[in-house]
Amino acid sequence: MTNMQRREIRNHLVQGLNNLDGQNLDANLVVESCPDENDYATQLTQQGVNLAMQRRRIARLDELENALKRLRETDYGVCDECGEDIGIARLKANPSARLCVVCQSMVEDGLICCA
Ligand SMILES: [Zn+2]
Repeated sequence: MTNMQRREIRNHLVQGLNNLDGQNLDANLVVESCPDENDYATQLTQQGVNLAMQRRRIARLDELENALKRLRETDYGVCDECGEDIGIARLKANPSARLCVVCQSMVEDGLICCA
């Protein structure tokens, strides 16, 4: 990976983190018990949705932060299996990718085994 590509992917990751920071999801939405059962059910549903979004957001944050950490190391963007560049488009779509497209498809086809 060239220095320019590293910069490009780092900007992409940092931007992704900033976007996540901008979303203030209220996961601690208090469900008030209210006399109307429909309202109560709606609030419970909303709380479930918020919690699911919050969990996804945290998983995404972890993924981006791990990718940034690995980017500071030299092995980021290099396929664990064949040592080729994973490719910047693939890394942008999937920052935690450790295999190139070719090796990934071989793993999925069961042709190689990856730990
Ligand atoms: Zn590979």
